[in-house]
Amino acid sequence: MSWKNFLNLLQRPSSAPLARGSDETAAQCLDVPAEQLALSESVLQTAVRLMAQDSTDTAAIVTAYCESLTRFAPRIKLAWVWFGDRDTQAIRPQYMAGAARAYAESLVIERSFLTRLGPAFRSLNGIGPQEYEVSARSSFGPWREMARQHATRSVLALPLGSTEPGKCGLAVFYADTENYFSQTGIRLFEALAQLFSMTLSKAARIEGLEREALVDALTGLGNRRAVDLAVRRSDTAAASAPLGIVLLADLDHFKRINDTHGHPAGDAVLREAAARLRACVRGSDLVARWGGEEFLLLLRGARPDDARRIAEKVCQAFRDRPVQPEGVRPLKLTVSIGLAAWQPEADFDAALARADAALYAAKQGGRDGWRLADD
Ligand code: GH3
Ligand code: MG
Ligand code: MG
Repeated sequence: MSWKNFLNLLQRPSSAPLARGSDETAAQCLDVPAEQLALSESVLQTAVRLMAQDSTDTAAIVTAYCESLTRFAPRIKLAWVWFGDRDTQAIRPQYMAGAARAYAESLVIERSFLTRLGPAFRSLNGIGPQEYEVSARSSFGPWREMARQHATRSVLALPLGSTEPGKCGLAVFYADTENYFSQTGIRLFEALAQLFSMTLSKAARIEGLEREALVDALTGLGNRRAVDLAVRRSDTAAASAPLGIVLLADLDHFKRINDTHGHPAGDAVLREAAARLRACVRGSDLVARWGGEEFLLLLRGARPDDARRIAEKVCQAFRDRPVQPEGVRPLKLTVSIGLAAWQPEADFDAALARADAALYAAKQGGRDGWRLADD
């Protein structure tokens, strides 16, 4: 088969509904009104149940609709939903239900030249709801498998819009009957898709706001709340190894920069300091703005020897290279650092107090240096 035929097959929407009483297998004889009733009942019952539970759990809500749909209408072998970034490189079903859910669990549709023209990415690119034929002779390997193992004959793919910029989604239903969706009518599925869009958009908005609330607006680093959250998470993770090192870094004589060159220059220096600190540690370490010109680093899994090395690296990152806010001459900037080990059984506030005392000692010792608590 040529590529062109292959692509045609991928894209080919179903033909007109089958006349009932054809010589197809029993699976093809669809009692349309009964099926429609089952579909509507499934949606209504789920809506009532979810409202009674007052559920706000997005995953539970979307999964509940998929589950009840495949239970009330067992001809639907699989329902799966994905929601994410419009420019995603891969689509992996996140919510799924039905007899063939194992298929969705392992499904990954990578963005490529071929899949770009397939149902999933076509939906993402704004193609409306579309029903596709599936058979054991499909050129599309995964669908062939679905046809053989779960007698799938038709697939309905619906795009999910989003009120969140850059976000979109996809809902896909697989049935064991040819033209199942055009026979039962796709309106109910469109309504479901709309419901999924609203639910998932709202969850994305809340997630975005929560993320924003953890970020320092000036530097883009974590803020105190981000540190609190990280500490609380560490408390619940039963770790037997040392949790790591708490590092406090305070810019030396920062006030002079503000006083001499103005607050905007001071802000630019804070942003540059944040970038240098970030570059000194691993991506998994938390770097936060603790306040004013003071930064807190949580170096997970670091030992005292690592602490010394990192402290020296940070000092050097400032000492070796002046900072230069726009329109200002290069400025010498140094940093003082206090570090303390944070043991799993120890209170974080206690470790913080020890790091703070060590920082004070570093300042007393002439600045541009570091002290390790208990050294
Ligand atoms: P030391 O070496 O003892 O730490 O001296 P310092 O001047 O760095 O410390 P001090 O605590 O005296 O001054 C900190 C200054 O940081 C004072 C405050 O106005 C300034 N500051 C705090 N937050 C911001 C900010 O968001 N932007 C700017 N530009 N300045 C800030
Ligand atoms: Mg300072
Ligand atoms: Mg300070």
